[in-house]
Amino acid sequence: MTTTPPSPSGRTTRADRMAQPTTRDAVRAVAENHGACLRPIQLRRTNTATGEVDQVLIPCGSTLADVCPPCAERAKELRAAQCREGWHLDTEPITDPPPPDEVQAMWVEYRARAQVDRDHAAQTGDNTVELDELIGELDQEIKRSGLRGKADPGRPKPRRQRSTRRRQDAPDLPKRKISPHTIGKTYTARDGKTFRPSMFITLTCPSYGKVGEDGTPADPDNYDYQRAARDALHFAALFDRFIQNLRRVLGYDVQYFATIEPQKRLAPHIHIAIRGTVSRAELRQIIAATYHQVWWPPPGTVRFDGNHLPVWHEPSGRYLDPDTGELLTEWDDALDAIGPGDDPMHVARFGAKFDAQGVLANSRDSGRCIGYLTKYLTKQLGDCHHPETPAQQEHVDRLAEALRFEPCSPTCANWLRYGIQPKNPRAGLVPGACKGKAHRRDHLGYAGRRVLVSRKWSGKTLADHRGDRKAWLTEMLGLPATDPATYRWEPVQPSDDDYLPPARRLLHAVADRLHWEQALTEARRRARDALADELSANGRAA
Ligand SMILES: [Zn+2]
Ligand SMILES: [Zn+2]
Repeated sequence: MTTTPPSPSGRTTRADRMAQPTTRDAVRAVAENHGACLRPIQLRRTNTATGEVDQVLIPCGSTLADVCPPCAERAKELRAAQCREGWHLDTEPITDPPPPDEVQAMWVEYRARAQVDRDHAAQTGDNTVELDELIGELDQEIKRSGLRGKADPGRPKPRRQRSTRRRQDAPDLPKRKISPHTIGKTYTARDGKTFRPSMFITLTCPSYGKVGEDGTPADPDNYDYQRAARDALHFAALFDRFIQNLRRVLGYDVQYFATIEPQKRLAPHIHIAIRGTVSRAELRQIIAATYHQVWWPPPGTVRFDGNHLPVWHEPSGRYLDPDTGELLTEWDDALDAIGPGDDPMHVARFGAKFDAQGVLANSRDSGRCIGYLTKYLTKQLGDCHHPETPAQQEHVDRLAEALRFEPCSPTCANWLRYGIQPKNPRAGLVPGACKGKAHRRDHLGYAGRRVLVSRKWSGKTLADHRGDRKAWLTEMLGLPATDPATYRWEPVQPSDDDYLPPARRLLHAVADRLHWEQALTEARRRARDALADELSANGRAA
């Protein structure tokens, strides 16, 4: 780095001073280098036995690099650890749950009887309010006794009769009974070594029109933005279908760790680590047979637009036609109007292009793939590819415009545009201004979670993985695993005497980190020395 020498008088100019880095930036840079959170949260901790008070800074925990790079990096590493741990698992991660104990069985029996009484009352036209209440209480008891899920998952909503036409058609694939195991096949090589390969698969959306190297359409007017928008909106559901079909074809409970990110053309694609393997031919067949039908009312023609919009009617809790004063079509009625000869509003499919490779445990490939899988996790979808040219900016704008008026869900305000009451309507809905995440520019139509992990991947939640890391550290540092003292925790407000302003908090966070790193280095050195001692002792004994 070159700096201008001070003038002979010893004075510096304003320009010279401006060229010097600020201390504030330097503190942030040092914090980042040491992985200290840039926006630590201050908590006051009171030992309830001794009354001793101290200040504890906890990391903000953001997953976004433009909010807090160190926290986002840590979150990404945690995901990578989760991905690594489940990919090549060779024992089943979750053993089957035990049968219900006596208390659980008792509540379930009560619940069964109450259901029969209630259904009988309903059939004979009697009032079911009390029995419904009883059932609600029994459900609570069942939950308290440690059982997951519900005895009658559909209970709160009255069942609607649906035409069979509206169900998902079965894909053209072999139907195999799915066995409950989650681990892929083991292969034995000639030399007797066994290996269990897993796979890394990337699925994309179909083409919406030819695009160039920069991801922008060759012919923007004929690029199918509507289809692109709808596919993005229903991408998570389509992936769900794919997994169902994959399991059906492979005949076992295939597990996955998947991340969703945009391609340059701004369509989502998905990287999937699966445990076990599937042949390319089977994969091609499954992709071709996988689709998701969206049975929503056909949006049809735009009936209300600009300032000409449906009016909220408070007494009925519904929207009215501003011209006739009539109620708009109910959501359920619009659904029922879909006839047996009608097509679904949208059918989402994957593109024919896919990528698949076998990966062996702990290989260089496996590390590289995990890198791919977690690459963009610290960014919002819309921030993965910054528009740099006018053409790219235009492409973003056109997609955003298509997404603006596309219904994102049954409750979306955009249904009003087509004269349909959204499901569960409320006051203040304006077409084109739905608050749903999918419409936001930084989501590119995809509102779901970025990381999709099947339940039996590593048999652990993200919190469990976090716990693993903490346990490792506590052991490494020789800290007591549990602190017997009990504490009261409170957030510290700016008006409090012990409040630390952000700049001072950051200095504390850096010092904490340095202290920690030192302790860890020291612990590692001790462990190495102990190992060396042991080895030389063994050497002497031999
Ligand atoms: Zn942070
Ligand atoms: Zn919406």
